[in-house]
Amino acid sequence: MIRLHDILDMVAAYNPEADLDLIKKAYVFSAKAHQGQTRRSGEPYLTHPMEVAGILSQMKLDVPSIATALLHDTVEDTVATLEEVEQLFGPEIRNLVDGVTKLSKIQFTTSQERQAENFRKMIMAMAKDIRVILVKLADRVHNMRTLEHMPEMRQVAIAQETMDIYAPIANRLGIQEMKIELEDLSLKYLKPDIYQMIDEQVRKRKGQREKYITEIKKLVGDRMREHNVECDIYGRLKHYCSIWRKMESQHIPFDQVHDIIAFRLIVESVQQCYEALGVIHALWRPVPGRFKDYIAMPKANGYQSLHTTVIGPSGDRIEFQIRTGEMHDFAEHGIAAHWKYKEGRLIDDKEEMKFKWIRKLLEWQSELSDPAEFLDTVKLDLFADDVYVFTPAGELLEFPRGSTPLDFAYSIHTDLGHTTIGAKVNGKIVPLKYQLRSGDTVEILRGKKPQPHKDWLSVVKTSRAKAKIRQWLRQEEQDKSSLIGRELLEKECRRYNISINQLLKNKEVENFAKSSSYDSTEALLSAIGYGKFSPLQIISLVVPHDQLHPEDRPKEESSVIGKIVQRLTRPKGLVKVGGMSDMMVSFGKCCNPVPGDPIVGFVTRGRGVSVHVSDCDKVLSQEHDRLIQVEWDMTQSAARVVRIRVMCQDRIGILAKMTEAITSEGANIAGASIRINDDKTALNSFDVEIKDLTQLRNVMKSLERVKGIISVERVRE
Ligand code: MN
Repeated sequence: MIRLHDILDMVAAYNPEADLDLIKKAYVFSAKAHQGQTRRSGEPYLTHPMEVAGILSQMKLDVPSIATALLHDTVEDTVATLEEVEQLFGPEIRNLVDGVTKLSKIQFTTSQERQAENFRKMIMAMAKDIRVILVKLADRVHNMRTLEHMPEMRQVAIAQETMDIYAPIANRLGIQEMKIELEDLSLKYLKPDIYQMIDEQVRKRKGQREKYITEIKKLVGDRMREHNVECDIYGRLKHYCSIWRKMESQHIPFDQVHDIIAFRLIVESVQQCYEALGVIHALWRPVPGRFKDYIAMPKANGYQSLHTTVIGPSGDRIEFQIRTGEMHDFAEHGIAAHWKYKEGRLIDDKEEMKFKWIRKLLEWQSELSDPAEFLDTVKLDLFADDVYVFTPAGELLEFPRGSTPLDFAYSIHTDLGHTTIGAKVNGKIVPLKYQLRSGDTVEILRGKKPQPHKDWLSVVKTSRAKAKIRQWLRQEEQDKSSLIGRELLEKECRRYNISINQLLKNKEVENFAKSSSYDSTEALLSAIGYGKFSPLQIISLVVPHDQLHPEDRPKEESSVIGKIVQRLTRPKGLVKVGGMSDMMVSFGKCCNPVPGDPIVGFVTRGRGVSVHVSDCDKVLSQEHDRLIQVEWDMTQSAARVVRIRVMCQDRIGILAKMTEAITSEGANIAGASIRINDDKTALNSFDVEIKDLTQLRNVMKSLERVKGIISVERVRE
């Protein structure tokens, strides 16, 4: 059994300035709390927290983690309380103990949904403080080591849970040592026959294997020396579980699993990794497709190494892993390597490490959809109802699945949402409808003016963003219609020599407004603006009926309403057909003419005149007798939406510059989409509200002046 001074010695060896008194204090507290308790093995209960602390000090973890290991079962299994822990050990250790206790309460049942939910909770616990999981993993390692004392039923359940949940977590955290131990111990209880068979075979061939390892080591070592590559070579038996998996996946008996031994070369530099690889490939023929460069492309858990398999001297496959000492340390201890004591390391630095790792974890969560890779039963869909993304400052935010950068923007601040013009995810510009993925770092590109668009409602997922967009659109509509209302009312006032301000302050008018529940001037004006009341109706409140202009008295209201309707809907009079401006016209989607374009009309069946650019292919293909001469009515002004396609380099801030170029010409952007190409270019398409051809030309010129723009063209389909 491990003793307190063993733990203290280990900690002092890697962390000379460690607060050993804190560990002693935790020991005393735990010993008292667990006094009289025994484990199923008959040993004093205290042996368990001690062993857990021992495992963590082998991993060179910090003092709070070791203390937490000693205390981890006190709150759950004894009369000790979290308050006591906090009083004696401070809030940091209290939180760690609390985290481990909560995690222990999670029951991994067979129900997939429940399991998935538990999994999510684990991930969130990790996101809070990864040390909670490290303590929990060490706890599980010791429980697995002593599983023989459990009743058989429990053995299988615990082993299954370890195989399904804890070993993969250890793997994902890069703690290879722990993953291997957990897997092999699980296999022992889950497939006792197989485990025993492999164990027997392995023992039987021990001598033969050792001879083989010595041989290969010598061959490789000599060759490395010839090439001046300093290296340590280790040959080791692969762990049982991976041998079993190989047998399973290739449907072969043990005899035919040839590469049960893996060789590891530890060299001094990255350059030497590649040199050593070259030496090995020159010595033996590499197996095609088996070379993996995890140095250039580290695994999600941060693992780095070169892997290759070659055909060895006796025709057997030999696997080599080549890495530096640092990479090796990381491969064995993974995330735990970050908690190693390093002199002068700042808390912030540690936080930074934690942050980086959580990001990886979250990436991992999104990777879970690959069933071959991990936990068959837990599919991403089951528990990815939420995605977790980061702000540029590293803050973690949670969103429902399907959320977009707009949801992100609105969750931070309403104004940020309103002024969003684009977004970058992991440093790359993405379209606003991009669906956030766990682990993304999201940055919002802001414009100067708020410009939410109706289309945004279909882009956002969160109710908050929807509500804010709706609110803004309503407000904007109200502002617009109150402007129109004021204008209409002013015009009418002028005819009667009334001041609009006086009119609005008039008691009668105020009463009328209140009684019709438009209790502010603005509300009343906007009610006029969208045609709820006519200006004359308001005026008649203060002007006696017989003093109204005679022409106002009969059916006048309808024509006022008509005007309002005309103001609010797209003016039909934009194009004159045969000199008349009230014809029903529509604009061809194929060529989308703007005022100033040479145009021609085309009489449709039942939908009035369709207006096209003169040389539009669609018009040219029509029968001549249905074409009709049309002209722009330049006395009318109304915007037409034109699509402009811009090819640009994918560089920071360019979207904002393009948007500025468009709006600086007084044009409104009604919609935009962005596609990033593989070659670092981006294809943007802007739907711009254009008054006339001159404005369109100016907008296009202005866009062309933006640095990084490759081409600008007006889209005609
Ligand atoms: Mn425990």
